[in-house]
Amino acid sequence: MSHETVYAIASGKGGVGKTTTTVNLGTALAEAGERVAIVDVDLGMANLAGFVSLTPDSTTLHDVLAGAASIDDATYRLADNIVAVPSGTSLDDYAETSPEGLREAVDELRSEFDYVFLDVGAGISHETVLPLGLADAVVLVSTPEPAAVHDSKKTIELTDRAGGEIAGLVLTRTRPDGDVSHDELADRLEVPLLGTIPEDPAARDSVYAGTPLVVFEPDGPAAVAYRRLAAELTGIEIDEPEPDHDTSGDSTASTDAAEPTAEPNADDGDENETDHEAAQTEHEAAHDDVSSAITEAESDT
Ligand code: ADP
Ligand code: MG
Repeated sequence: MSHETVYAIASGKGGVGKTTTTVNLGTALAEAGERVAIVDVDLGMANLAGFVSLTPDSTTLHDVLAGAASIDDATYRLADNIVAVPSGTSLDDYAETSPEGLREAVDELRSEFDYVFLDVGAGISHETVLPLGLADAVVLVSTPEPAAVHDSKKTIELTDRAGGEIAGLVLTRTRPDGDVSHDELADRLEVPLLGTIPEDPAARDSVYAGTPLVVFEPDGPAAVAYRRLAAELTGIEIDEPEPDHDTSGDSTASTDAAEPTAEPNADDGDENETDHEAAQTEHEAAHDDVSSAITEAESDT
């Protein structure tokens, strides 16, 4: 394929919305029929390990990089058209991995999926820099806060150094009363503004409800913005649901994937404390896993 299909989702500062962006860009494209892989390349501090219910000996990206498994073994289906490749969480594992093997792993995913999103760790370590050069383009994520915007400069520098390309800036958690214009922030970094994602309580709610935002509240402002961003970034046409003015929460309406399901693998008790009535057991559309991952990531910070 001649166009860009592998994106690194990166930021200078942590906690700005990279994981939310990775999950929702991926899901928006998967819903539009594209085959998507999302990969946790934050090797030092696996952010998305809980994407799937991992047992201690589950295969992760670490095993792949250590040469002990194939990328297919570390690929877990989340829902129709979308898979996740989690990282392990053990530092010992990390010491044994060869981040250079990442190139090979990414190339394999590139050949199997229409789009690949790499959820990159914040900061400036080796495993952060490498994916910036491997991706076809880097999506910078920042909130409008000056410190976060400032730290984005480091990511731009690192991307240059890694031989990568910046696709542009996504501003997250924007508010209507912000005092600096979004265009001005992008101008300051000398990168295009790809899109803005408004502050939306549904972002957090979706994590606890067990579905990506774009499924949880498809008409909400952040979900709409993520679909628009996905379309802008890839050129794929993504249908907007008709903005009906139905104020009742319709989060479980449109797709079956939106149904909160019981935890996918029963003996995984440490994660799903928010426990939906244990009644339903639906094993395949494991959007919960996404949410438990993010919940985990959140409780880590
Ligand atoms: P990162 O991966 O960069 O550390 P996350 O995606 O985990 O960031 O997001 C950090 C926190 O911000 C999470 O609690 C998430 O729910 C919240 N968040 C992300 N985007 C939004 C948004 N548009 N509106 C409100 N909260 C958001
Ligand atoms: Mg994250």
